Amino acid sequence: MSARLIDGKALAAQVRSELAARVAALTARGITPGLAVMLVGDDPASAIYVRNKIKACEETGIRSYAIHLPATVTQQELLARIRAWNADINVHGILVQLPLPPPFDAQRVIESIDPRKDVDGLHPENAGLLLLGRPQLPSCTPAGVMRMLEAAGCNPAGQHAVVIGRSIMVGRPMAMLLLAADATVTLCHSRTPDLSAITRQADILIAAAGRRGLVTADMVKPGAVVIDVGIHRTPDGRVVGDVDFDQVRHVAGALSPVPGGVGPMTIAMLLHNTVRAAELAVDAARGRGVQSASD
Ligand code: NAD
Repeated sequence: MSARLIDGKALAAQVRSELAARVAALTARGITPGLAVMLVGDDPASAIYVRNKIKACEETGIRSYAIHLPATVTQQELLARIRAWNADINVHGILVQLPLPPPFDAQRVIESIDPRKDVDGLHPENAGLLLLGRPQLPSCTPAGVMRMLEAAGCNPAGQHAVVIGRSIMVGRPMAMLLLAADATVTLCHSRTPDLSAITRQADILIAAAGRRGLVTADMVKPGAVVIDVGIHRTPDGRVVGDVDFDQVRHVAGALSPVPGGVGPMTIAMLLHNTVRAAELAVDAARGRGVQSASD
């Protein structure tokens, strides 16, 4: 048996072309969606992620405002920059590339972002709305996974979904979105005993542990839908995931590859959240009686 591939790259291209139409509609009304991106320090992987995000904005018609600050910047300077973006009507989304180098307090920085511009979905207000089943700007990676499940024809309702990893950015919001879609959800983490006994029960298995090759074929129920969130670079320069792809593809019913799976969808959902934030800002302005340039 060979699993169907869930092609995140092709799906992301489709999402981006739908978004380009929405951006064009906003631009015609005098509003160009804008995403502000902050990179702090010199982490090479973070620099690549930021570059990819800016390029994706340009290709979709979203204006980007990128700033690269040295690791020596003070937390006050960093917070002042975010305050300026919060007040800037041309900025609809704000993204601080994580992780921040020490000694920055990432949580405090995230909490300083206007929740209406929090396109990473990490502000407590957005996390709370997600918990209440009313996501406004859901975290990009889990939102991208939900779109991948949909594209694979997998409806989570009534299915047993197992998520490996409980991070604020991936595992927890992932579990909440699956729950909102009526799955029965098990959230596993580094202290979960006998992980494979649980994963073998999964109709949907989401691997987000950040452990290369953690999910082996014997941990997967035949026919399960497996989404690999992990990203690792091997010593010989290949990019691989948390799932042992070559083994698991013989057991799973559908499987997302790395690269070309969740990664491109995370960026597509960042753009999606930025456009959504811009549309919500327009609606809010109309509600206050503020006219756009073309009204
Ligand atoms: P993290 O380190 O913050 O969290 C990892 C989680 O996995 C923790 O909750 C931990 O308890 C759990 N875990 C670790 N080892 C485990 C084990 N052996 N068994 C069970 N649980 C275990 O990581 P993160 O930010 O959630 O990212 C996870 C992975 O996803 C990383 O490889 C990261 O690079 C990748 N990632 C990819 C994208 C993307 O766009 N494709 C986005 C975000 C993160």
